[in-house]
Order: sequence, then C-alpha cells, then structure tokens
Amino acid sequence: METMLTTLRKIVQEMTSYSQFSDAVQSLVAAVKEAMDTDVCSIFLLNKNRIEYDLAATDGLNVAQVGEVRLRTDQGLVGFVGRRAEPINLEQANQHPEFHFLPDSGEEAFNSFLGVPIIHQRKTLGVLVVQQTQSRKFDEAEESFLVTLAAQLATVIAHAEAVGDFGVQQTPFQSKEDNCFVGVPGAPGVAIGQAVVMHPIANLDAVPERDAEDVTLELLLLDRAIEAVRGDITNIIEEFSASLPKQELALFDAYLHMLDDNALSGDIRAQIQRGQWAQGALKKVIREHVGRFELMEDPYLRERGADVKDLGLRVLAYLQDIRDKKIHFPKNTILVGEEVTPAMLANIPADRLSAIVSIKGSGSSHLAILARAMDIPAVMGAIDLPAYDLEGETLVVDGDYGEVFTRPSAKRLILSKELIEQERIFDEELTDLKELPCITQDGWRVQLWVNIGLSGDITRSLDRGAEGIGLFRTEIPFMSQDRFPTEAEQTGLYREHMEAFEPRPVTMRTLDIGGDKSLTYFPIKEENPFLGWRGIRVTLDHPEIFLVQVRAMLKANAGLMGELRIMLPMISSVNELLEAKELISQAHQEVMEEGVKVKAPQIGVMIEVPAAVYQARLLAKESDFLAVGSNDLTQYMLAVDRNNPRVAGLYQDVHPAVIMALREVARAAHTEQTGIGICGELAGTPVGAVLLMAMGYHVLSMNATHLPKVKWVIRNIKRSDARRMLARVLRMNTAEEINAFMHKQLEEKGLGRVLPHHHDL
Ligand code: PEP
Ligand code: MG
Repeated sequence: METMLTTLRKIVQEMTSYSQFSDAVQSLVAAVKEAMDTDVCSIFLLNKNRIEYDLAATDGLNVAQVGEVRLRTDQGLVGFVGRRAEPINLEQANQHPEFHFLPDSGEEAFNSFLGVPIIHQRKTLGVLVVQQTQSRKFDEAEESFLVTLAAQLATVIAHAEAVGDFGVQQTPFQSKEDNCFVGVPGAPGVAIGQAVVMHPIANLDAVPERDAEDVTLELLLLDRAIEAVRGDITNIIEEFSASLPKQELALFDAYLHMLDDNALSGDIRAQIQRGQWAQGALKKVIREHVGRFELMEDPYLRERGADVKDLGLRVLAYLQDIRDKKIHFPKNTILVGEEVTPAMLANIPADRLSAIVSIKGSGSSHLAILARAMDIPAVMGAIDLPAYDLEGETLVVDGDYGEVFTRPSAKRLILSKELIEQERIFDEELTDLKELPCITQDGWRVQLWVNIGLSGDITRSLDRGAEGIGLFRTEIPFMSQDRFPTEAEQTGLYREHMEAFEPRPVTMRTLDIGGDKSLTYFPIKEENPFLGWRGIRVTLDHPEIFLVQVRAMLKANAGLMGELRIMLPMISSVNELLEAKELISQAHQEVMEEGVKVKAPQIGVMIEVPAAVYQARLLAKESDFLAVGSNDLTQYMLAVDRNNPRVAGLYQDVHPAVIMALREVARAAHTEQTGIGICGELAGTPVGAVLLMAMGYHVLSMNATHLPKVKWVIRNIKRSDARRMLARVLRMNTAEEINAFMHKQLEEKGLGRVLPHHHDL
C-alpha cells in the first residue's frame, strides 16, 4: 500500500506537469476520486469578482457544467465551507440547512459530502469537494488527506492566479490590464519601455547523444567553437572596460577561465575521446556542472551554475552555427528573460537599455550587481511573470519596489512618466546639495556617511557628497574570491578606499559571515544560521583570520589623515567586545613592531541583537562608538527572517518595539558620551532619518543612492519639529500608525516629494 504522503506527492506532481491550468485541475479531481475511492471529486474556485465560485473541474458530476455552474459565496455547502474556513463532513448533505441543489449537475444521486477550503495566505481561493452515493461519514484519515492536499493545492493555485491563468474562461495574461508582478528589487529606478525577450541562444536539452563518426573532426569543431566564444567574450571585456569597474569585469575573466582546458574544455574533450560527438559531449558536461551548482545551498554558488549554462549555450550556438541573430533593440529596451545573464547585456547598445527583468536570480546575483553599477533599474526573481509572452509589450519596471507592470493602463503610464521626470528633475536639483552640510533649519548637524562594499561605490559615494564611510562590508570582497584574501590583498583594497575618502573617517566592519552570507571556500552548514555561527562569533573562533584582517586595516591607514574606525558585528555580550579589543591591540602592536607607524583605531560595537540594546551603556563604556545595524536588529527583535518573503509583511522597520529600542540605544550612548550612529537601511529612508535625527543619532550611514534625498529632507526640517513628531510616534501602537502619521507630517511640511507614491493610481 502506498503511504498517504506518496499518494499526495504523486497527485501534486502530476498536476503541476500540465501546462494548461484547466487540464491540471481536471487531472487533480480524477486522481483524488481514484485515491479516495469516492464517486465524485470537484473543485470550485472563487471567481475574480470574489463573490462567486466557479465549478473549475469535476470527475463524477456532469462535466458539461464546468465553467457553467456558479455559486454565490453565501450559497450552498460550498459557500458554507468557504465562509467557515473549515472542513465540513456530512453523512446526508441534502438535510443540511445550507444545502443548495445544483440543477443539471447530477448531484441528486449523492448523499455524503466532504468539503475542505483551499486557503493561501489567509485568502480563500476555493473549495475541494468529494461526494458519495452511499450515505456515510468520511473518516478522519480521509478528511485529513483532503485537508493536506488542499493546503498544497493552495500554493499551486495562487501561482496560477498570479500569472493570470486562473478561473475557467480567462485566457492568460491578455485578460488583465495593469497586472503587477512582484519580484525583488535588483537595481533602483523606474522605467517604461518595450520588452525584448532574450531566449537562450540554443537549446542544450534538445541535443541528442550520438556517436562521433570522426573523433578528430569533433575535437576540431569544439576547438573552433570555443575559440569563437573566447573572441566574443574578449570583445565584451573591451566594450565594457571603460564603463565598468574592475571587479565587475572580473566576471567575464572568470568566463574565460571556465573555458580553459583544465575546466570545461578538458571535460568535453574527454567525452569526445570516449566516442561522443561534440554537441552531445558539451551537453553532458554542462549538465553535470550545472547540476552540481544547482544543488548547492550557497546562493552565490548556485548563481555560478547560471554562468556555466550561459557559456555552454554560447559554445553550442557556434557548434550549430547559429550565432546571435541580429536582434533589433528599440530605444528604451527592457531586457526580459528566464535567466538574463551578464553576457546578454553585451549585445545591446548601452543607450538603448532602460531596464532589466529576470525571472530567476536575486538581489545578490551578478546581474543585479552589474545593473546597479550601470545605474539601470532591475527587477529580479519575478517568478510568476510569463516572460515568453511579452515580446514587444510595453512594460513599466519599478526597481525600487521590485515590480513589473504588464499592459500598463493609460493612468499607470502617465504616473510612471511623471515619476521618471520628477526623479530626473529632483536628482538634478539634489546635485546642488553635494557640497552643503547636512544641517537642520534650526542648526542641528548630522553626518551622512555611506555603506560600501562594491568597487563602483567609491565614485558614486563621493559624487553624492558622502562625509565618510559608515559601513565597509568587508565580506563582499571575501565572497568574490575562491580563498581567503591575503593580508597584502586586503591592505591594497582597503587603502584604495581610505585614500579616496581621505581625510574623511572610514569605518571598517570586521568580517561578517554566517547567516545568509557564506564563503564558498569556508562553508557553514547549520539548521538556524541566523542564530548560529555569525559575525564576531566566527572571527573570535578564528583569530588567525581576524588578526590578518585587522592588520590589513591598520596598515592600509598608515600615513593617511582619515580616522580608522573598526566596527564589530553581532556582539551579544561584553566578553566578545573585550576579546576583540585584545586582538585588535595585539594586531596594532605587531604592525608597530614591523615598523609601520599607525595610530590605534577607534573601536565600535554594532548593536544588532536585543541583548546589546539592554547592555548598550556597558558596551558604550567599553568602546569608542556604537552603530546600530537596524536590519538585523529588526530581524531579531521581531523574530522575522529578513530574507523570507513569506513573513516579509511582518518585517516592519518602524515597528514600535524597534523605535523604542533605537531610542534606548541613543540614550545609553548619550549618557556615556559615546558617538552613536546607524548603518541599517532605515537610515536611508526619509521617515527613519527624521526620527533618528530627532533621537540624537550623530551619524546616519546609508546606500549612496539614498543620501541626497535624506540630506534634502533634513535640511528642510527643524529638529524641534522632528522631536515633536518623535514624541507622538513613541506613544503609537503599530507600525502602520507610525508610517501614516509620519507621511502626513512630511507631506504637510512640503516634503512629500521624497515619499514613494506610485502605488496610488
Ligand atoms: C544591519 O544589520 O543593519 C547592517 C548594517 O548589517 P548587514 O545589513 O550587513 O547585516
Ligand atoms: Mg547586520
């Protein structure tokens, strides 16, 4: 006997193998009917109007009624199940007061009824029903089977609904105007343009395995194809070398390395020598490599799988002699694809590319990094977007919110155009602020610093008037290597930043790995990584890594005027601070003994966990500055994983508990007369910046993109007004209330331009 779990899996798997939604639900009802050995299984789905259910599929009732039968939500047992949001199990359905007979359905023959609601994220999507002639109560096992199935089904249906293939009469996609597909922000900005869909240039899956007729000839063909791809990539490097920073260009170098004999080429050759023809050999090797990457947990490594595939396709195209066809790129091209790769960008003239949308990938993909460096709005991970239907379609892309609008309405277009124009004018105005201090109208001075990590950040930050570096995320350069960088390599990189920013202060955070940031060459496998071996916990356990890093920081600062501040992430007890201080002092001594003269650095503690909030005074006493990492502090205070989309709605940056904690930390620092700053995303939001300034944070450190707007808001407000707002906010009960109040206040002060508006059509 099959277990219930196996049956469930089979049913769901079979259902998801259909491309048409209507076929999928039909297969489902048939399979459930068989598995439960009942006479009828039907599925009713809530219509778009949300007041009626449609019969979407049935096995056992009159099939001709599919798409015909409608039931209001206040009608019949189906409506009752939906309203109750609970299973209803009846021996004699027609005796129930809610029973409503469906004419022409053939329903009269059935006595017993079991209906379970299909609910996704609190919303009822439909009702799954089984019926039987025999008058009997379905047993508990049957009931729990159907409940379990309905819970899994909910996800599948929600996905179908999102892509527009929902309900029985609608054709997908075309039927909806102004449909919004949500992904994740890849690079900021709004754009309107024409979709150009990038297909993979060749299809590896379609390549058959075949014996080579002439091994030497196949090897020769392979060589030619690889040489041709090398040529293409070298051209890309040349084309981009002027406009892209070194670090991003290194990606294309990595492509060249992958083509080397000791990597992909070697393996493909070996396959050919074993008698496979070149295309088959290529397919085998690429599949193997991609498969290995895709199984990896580390997101950075998974992304490398995409790079390998892209390369494989390029080689295949030459083997098949179907090079890139000349695609026409209109002005305002929006590049759309299942998996847009950095190499695809090379085919498009830079002045024609206005946005990028990739179904796969995330904010940390190389593509997103490139898009930010090129200042092109990008949305990643728009998993529900029907990419291949979009050729030539007008799209609106909002990289700030990670949203793509298909078939935008006239209103949406007007609004988006306004937004783009406003943004352009505003940005231009804001450039005038570059040299001006960030000071409130009543003379309160705030320091605006930047968070940095990518190499392109230096110029962007200085262009926008950054007064210092408030957070150098040193793990980013560690992540783009395949081993720990040496002391000399680190010194070189850090010095580049310190020289560029001299005489401004530079805050170097010590290696903050663990959680969602892992190094390929130093894997950490844990059940609960965010509560595990993270940040300072790792580096205190590995003094050899910590000391080398601190020595590099000290040496990088030698002879420069800017202040070096070393900042410790994830501190949850004072012991960690004391141990780290000891190591920093050891490193300082060693560097001095080597004859390099450097001042002792300032040492700061990041306040990122609730424990540190309650010990802020003690930590302030033992250090030179405190800096709140509000991204993590919010995650740990609210117990909401900052990367989990399912609970994203609960991650509220101005949750009253977070605001209270922020104020406590500021007070503790003031009492101990220690510098207090913040470097989480909150500092870069208009609402956050105003409240933090009111609390007395001396340093707000943020992404360079946000800096000019924050400066504008603070220069146009009085601290006394901000303090009055804070006093009110501290008495509020919910994040919604705080946000609404602050938005209204900023609007009333004529500062509404910095607030996001696009949602109110
Ligand atoms: C934070 O947690 O707020 C922070 C600035 O650090 P990161 O985002 O790098 O974890
Ligand atoms: Mg953090």
